[in-house]
Amino acid sequence: MSKLYGAIEAGGTKFVCAVCDEDLNIIKRVKIPTTVPAETMTEVFKFFTENPVSAMGIGSFGPIDINRNSATYGYITNTPKKGWANYNFLGEMKARFDIPYVWTTDVNVAAYGELKRGAAQGEDSCVYLTVGTGVGGGAVVNGKLLEGFGHPEMGHIILKRHPNDKYKGHCPYHHDCLEGMVSGPAIEARHHGVKAYDIPKDDEDWQIVAYYLAQACLDYTLILSPEKIIFGGGVSKQSQLFPLIRQDFKELMNGYIKTPALDDYIVHCDLGDDAGITGCLLLAQEIEKKS
Ligand code: ADP
Ligand code: ZN
Repeated sequence: MSKLYGAIEAGGTKFVCAVCDEDLNIIKRVKIPTTVPAETMTEVFKFFTENPVSAMGIGSFGPIDINRNSATYGYITNTPKKGWANYNFLGEMKARFDIPYVWTTDVNVAAYGELKRGAAQGEDSCVYLTVGTGVGGGAVVNGKLLEGFGHPEMGHIILKRHPNDKYKGHCPYHHDCLEGMVSGPAIEARHHGVKAYDIPKDDEDWQIVAYYLAQACLDYTLILSPEKIIFGGGVSKQSQLFPLIRQDFKELMNGYIKTPALDDYIVHCDLGDDAGITGCLLLAQEIEKKS
């Protein structure tokens, strides 16, 4: 009998659970609202009880503990979302389904999906940055997820301020870090509550947002030398941002190193909402083959 693989993309607003066959055809998929673990996880357990799988990839919102030597490995650690702080996500899954798991961040699985099936196909490395309610980044380096004592938090880097930007910033930890300046809520607060998709495309605020995103791309380039930098999330649907980011990136780099052609280097994601699930399913297949 052919094997089935599972995926959970655990987001702050919704969970997506999916099952695929060996050729990565998705056979079943459900969306479950993220409320409290007692509700959301009950639905997740039910889905995988009805649809048993041989291995599973989980990409979760975070911060999460991915350090195998830690007593809280597999936990969601520090979130304002009610009921989810210190939740033993992986442990609760393992207690019910004794299968191999890949446990990492939502943005790491999206980076992996885009690398294998999306905008970075054929490459060995990429950075994936989501710009939405928050800003988060994942990366694949030499074909492997980038992980250390924990996972990267590329959304919270500190930036040089745009000279015309008076906005104080939205991050509760750092105020004017990248997330504090360019997340959807930050863009809307800077623009006095106007919804991000209602701000005119030629408004100067987009130049400010692009300036910060260009600095982020510069830092990721200088530190990781990825073959692509891929943007996802609601804010990245503003396609006017891309030429602005590339232009500022070019100016900030100032000829120091030669990167791939910027139109191919700083790009929008290909897989859209499927990036994370695709990455989870591919990682599930790989872990099952190894174990
Ligand atoms: P989440 O981060 O919650 O998974 P999204 O990536 O859709 O979901 O991010 C939601 C944020 O992105 C909101 O703050 C919203 O203002 C912003 N957003 C959503 N769609 C657009 C759009 N088309 N243009 C600009 N901003 C958008
Ligand atoms: Zn921050």
